[in-house]
Amino acid sequence: MTNRAALAAFRERLQGEVVVPGDPGYDRARAVWNATADARPAVVARCAGVGDVVAAVRFARERELLVAVRGGGHSYPGFSTCDGGIVIDLSPMAGVRVDPERRTATAAGGALLGELDRQAQAHGLACPTGHVSHTGVGGLTLGGGVGRLTRRHGLTLDNLAAVELVTAEGERVRADPASEPELFWGLRGAGANFGIATSFELRLHPVGPLVLAGIAVYPVERAREVAAVFAAYMAGAPDEITAGLGWFVAPPGPPFPPAVAGRPVVVVNATHAGPLEEAEPDLAPLRALGPALDTFAPRPYLELQAESDDHYRWGRRNYWKGLLLEALAGEAVDQIGALVAAAPGPDCGVGLLSLGGAFGRVPEDATAFSGRSATLWLITEAVWDDPAEDPARIAWGRDAMAALRPFATSVNYVNDLGQLDQAAVRGAYGPAKYDRLAALKRTWDPDNVFRRNQNIRP
Ligand SMILES: Cc1cc2nc3c(=O)[nH]c(=O)nc-3n(C[C@H](O)[C@H](O)[C@H](O)COP(=O)(O)OP(=O)(O)OC[C@H]3O[C@@H](n4cnc5c(N)ncnc54)[C@H](O)[C@@H]3O)c2cc1C
Repeated sequence: MTNRAALAAFRERLQGEVVVPGDPGYDRARAVWNATADARPAVVARCAGVGDVVAAVRFARERELLVAVRGGGHSYPGFSTCDGGIVIDLSPMAGVRVDPERRTATAAGGALLGELDRQAQAHGLACPTGHVSHTGVGGLTLGGGVGRLTRRHGLTLDNLAAVELVTAEGERVRADPASEPELFWGLRGAGANFGIATSFELRLHPVGPLVLAGIAVYPVERAREVAAVFAAYMAGAPDEITAGLGWFVAPPGPPFPPAVAGRPVVVVNATHAGPLEEAEPDLAPLRALGPALDTFAPRPYLELQAESDDHYRWGRRNYWKGLLLEALAGEAVDQIGALVAAAPGPDCGVGLLSLGGAFGRVPEDATAFSGRSATLWLITEAVWDDPAEDPARIAWGRDAMAALRPFATSVNYVNDLGQLDQAAVRGAYGPAKYDRLAALKRTWDPDNVFRRNQNIRP
């Protein structure tokens, strides 16, 4: 069959849309969140349902096309697109169904966090997810899922009850603790490697609708003092509190008062997921250092989950990396301050989020995710718009990682890995887990069809 005939047959078979170069919607269909990931796939299959995903996998295998799978499109390095291959795009497969009696949600493979939050909050429930509501449930859950409820209810993947998959053979499989326990283990931390998840069943918990949350802002000169109080308090804090420290240059003007506006700052942020009357006293120690600005107030959980959406909007250029830490050394605090002071422009920052609590009580071997003894998740972010700034921004991001890696654990959160470097992927899981995952990969994807990810080699 000629390429043209094969494509026509594929179009015929798909309920969704097939978009190729030259089609009017091609540039929209190929775009992903990070504008630096500017790839040109040969085909984008916008799947309308599970049957389309099966058809797309079979088409890709018959034509020997490189496969990229796209959920929310937020992979930092752009794993959900590729040059010359096929993007199996799940974004038309959105939709979340909540069963309030069983406290579960079923999210389709292309659903976004905001939809899960909205549907669950309609019943006063929530699943722990991430911080930005246009992120995909798919990639976030299959790698981890750290957010405002992590210490209270664990990672998103700790709340997975079952996954429905289309395999590399184009077959449908359900993985849960009873039916495919080893696959279900691997899906929770290395999930993008084993198939295309078309549905996630997730456990929900009562949250909100109001939670106490906010930020307390200090001049960066006070970073050591603030970090010491933060670390000491979070070591024994109630699970209801998930809190963070952020370093960035405050925008000039309100809400930042003159003492900190336009200057490098260190910011405590926190969410208390319990009753409001307990939240005030629980959070008081994190606010007691006399900040230049304190915004803590009862907030709708839903509003909080979307508050950073515009800052992290689609189409900007991004270089993000992450590490896990077991403790916060004073030298690390100084390094972070120096890095932010040396940033090549605005929107370069470093963030820390507290782990522990429910996250830390999951045994290390219970899931493929590695790093349960970490107490902090560290993220470096560079965000910009002008391609001419690429070299300076990327160099800053690399320098930041080099400076901070000595303070980190050897394992890492795979959603933060930016490259297809095998040593980094093996290191992120540790050798024992990596070998177990490689055996699983040989069972489910021996030809490494699903390799646009933090790849486990079969
Ligand atoms: C603005 C922003 C905010 C973020 N905030 C957080 C946060 O608070 N907490 C956190 O833990 N992480 C966070 N992340 C990181 C995020 O978890 C990862 O980038 C994640 O991979 C994004 O998933 P996605 O579906 O949106 O991305 P995609 O780019 O679509 O996919 C990412 C990877 O997962 C694979 N994949 C996606 N969906 C499926 C599926 N259904 N089946 C099989 N494979 C699939 C893709 O092939 C790709 O390899 C954030 C990222 C961004 C850009």
